[in-house]
Amino acid sequence: MKAKKVFESMTPYKPGKQIEEVKKEYGLDRIVKLASNENPFGYSKKVDEVIQHAAKSFEIYPDGYATDLRQLLSDALSVLPDQLVFGCGSDEIIDMICRTYLEEGSNTIMATPTFPQYKHNAMIQGADIKEIPLINGYHDLQGMLDAVDENTNVVWLCTPNNPTGCMINDQSLKLFMDKCPEDVLVVLDEAYYEYISSHEAPDALELLKTYNNLIVLRTFSKAYGIAGLRVGYGISNLEISEALNIARGPFNTTDVGQKAAIAAFKDQEFLEQTRKETLNNKIDMINFCDEMELGYFDSETNFLFIKLPVSGDLLFNYLLSKGFIVRSGVALGFPNGVRLTIGAKEDMQELQTHMRNFL
Ligand code: PMP
Repeated sequence: MKAKKVFESMTPYKPGKQIEEVKKEYGLDRIVKLASNENPFGYSKKVDEVIQHAAKSFEIYPDGYATDLRQLLSDALSVLPDQLVFGCGSDEIIDMICRTYLEEGSNTIMATPTFPQYKHNAMIQGADIKEIPLINGYHDLQGMLDAVDENTNVVWLCTPNNPTGCMINDQSLKLFMDKCPEDVLVVLDEAYYEYISSHEAPDALELLKTYNNLIVLRTFSKAYGIAGLRVGYGISNLEISEALNIARGPFNTTDVGQKAAIAAFKDQEFLEQTRKETLNNKIDMINFCDEMELGYFDSETNFLFIKLPVSGDLLFNYLLSKGFIVRSGVALGFPNGVRLTIGAKEDMQELQTHMRNFL
């Protein structure tokens, strides 16, 4: 059996080291995972309460339309219910976008390095990929505009960008949207939206009123802390959401996931606490980097990319032996560095001790 030709040059997504694997390998009892930008504070207690009641009727298919979650977000974000599309994480919406708008002969533009799923899914569709290098961790928006041609169907803006954490500001984004042809879909991936503290952040939902070629992606996986339940969503005009719904699997979010997302979204107090503690711990980590004379990218997220005088693999392996899983920059397009999730205060302090010893 022959898979598509392009598969010959592709590999499946390889998750980082898993907690149990590291425990076994190093004979450690406690592992701190700071590799995938999950919420170290977990999730709202209200999610647990709801799940206990929700977890009953597994023989029934879920509500594929996610009616209650849709209504909640439609009210909260002041958009029409049908402007929303839900996915098994925003990962799935990225895939839906590729299946809807990309094919052989078309091309798509993205930064490099950025979130790898854009490229992965676009390649599967046979589209040509145009990667525009970041400048100091930021998108080169003019470079991306210059790359647009008559075959460009989708441009990906990851803001704040993974793996750098750098955000596109409001003014730059508006300028970009003004110059971008109207028949090119602009995907604004705001997976880390809730962590942004800059006053220059774009109001993406406001932009949706002006620009018809925009889709905003958000997720319950990061600040809301329910990555394991796989709920992400897109917000766009009706033409786009209707098209994506054709590509959507009929029951792509679970009942438990939908109910948990509702409970998580309603607990804005937990979110605020997450935001505050993350920011404090990030500032602390930045101070540590300054003290150690380590460079880093400006981060508006719950992770920090730290530049190193040596290969990221060396620090990655050292920290692994101490029970800390981070991501080596080698796999992320910046070999001399590591990306680490901002964790709980005590864990970050212990991490700093290890880093001090290593450096
Ligand atoms: N976009 C970005 C920028 C991400 O970092 C991630 C998660 N790593 C996702 C999308 C996908 O998140 P999820 O599928 O869990 O919503």
